[in-house]
Amino acid sequence: MKVPFVDLVAQYQTLAVEIDQAIKRVIADAAFIGGKYAGEFEKNFAAYCGARHCVAVGNGTDALMIVLKGLKIGPGDEVIVPANTFVATSEAVTASGARVVFADVDPETYNLDVSRLEKHITSRTKAVIAVHLYGHPADLAGLGRLADRRGFKIIQDSAQAHGAVIAGRKLIEWGGPLCFSFYPSKNLGAYGDAGAIVTDDEDLAVWCRMYANHGRLAKFDHDLEGVNSRLDGLQGAILNVKIKYLEEWIEKRRGHAALYDSLLKGVPDLITPKTDPDRRHVYHLYVVRTAKREPLRRFLQDRGVATGIHYPLALPNLTAYKHFGHRPEDFPVASRLQDEILSLPMYPELTGAMIEYVAAAIKEFLAG
Ligand SMILES: *Cc1c(COP(=O)(O)O)cnc(C)c1O
Repeated sequence: MKVPFVDLVAQYQTLAVEIDQAIKRVIADAAFIGGKYAGEFEKNFAAYCGARHCVAVGNGTDALMIVLKGLKIGPGDEVIVPANTFVATSEAVTASGARVVFADVDPETYNLDVSRLEKHITSRTKAVIAVHLYGHPADLAGLGRLADRRGFKIIQDSAQAHGAVIAGRKLIEWGGPLCFSFYPSKNLGAYGDAGAIVTDDEDLAVWCRMYANHGRLAKFDHDLEGVNSRLDGLQGAILNVKIKYLEEWIEKRRGHAALYDSLLKGVPDLITPKTDPDRRHVYHLYVVRTAKREPLRRFLQDRGVATGIHYPLALPNLTAYKHFGHRPEDFPVASRLQDEILSLPMYPELTGAMIEYVAAAIKEFLAG
């Protein structure tokens, strides 16, 4: 059997007629940049998130960068990001002009460890970017209490967490703004780059929309120099089709995760994802942990099972951040995770038989 890591073609095949029609309509209307279909998606996604505003932009990294600028965070400011996340989170901070400060993650949830965050807070700390890594919601309650006490803003990097819920409340209800990516393999994915800012703050939404469109509010004048980061009409139309299925896909991911959990329970040298029962984990990724990661990965590859590593180097250990002079010991949890985490195949179209095959191969290798 072959089990790919993701299968975007399988998903397209289930929607081909609808998607093809949607693409044709965009071309017939020449609604290529922004316009009717992008606008429709903004309404649909704001409603899905339970938020007042959605500003669609070119990609998730821009969403983060534009929001930072919209919150007037820039040179001289510091923004704390988790040591284990995709590089886009910290890249956006640097692009805003602010300084990136890394904080270690929790050994069980792999999200920001709020109990160890305080030592990184200085008078320059303007914001913390909470990343809902792998689709597991970060501790927004704990972070919110710290933010109230120490006076910083919280930005939610929700690129992996469309549809996540904490204690019955959607992410926006914990405060915003939220930044999303619709990179093709994300839980809600376009057929190219796309992203969005979701907020209840009207002033922030208006500013971000202006900045993302060359700093233009009125047709002939530009209030300031912005950037070109808008949603393509084609991507908007494709996302309008796909968003109708998002909840169904999330429930499938959660079902797959439950099956992995039950099949992998008690396998020696293997840690399955820990989830708080109060949080709706949307399983963008299903990440296990083992000290035997490399040999297991090769074994699975030989059996036709593709896996991933998210991410192979914790951010402070990247060459790009060498100038900070961090040592791996400064971020002991993230630095250990980078050698032990393994992402198993996870996408809605996976079958029970495929999951059983993957789990059997893992057991064969680890329990021998
Ligand atoms: C994908 C991702 C982003 C960036 O999204 P792009 O659309 O690829 O720019 C940011 N943060 C996290 C955690 C991501 O997974």
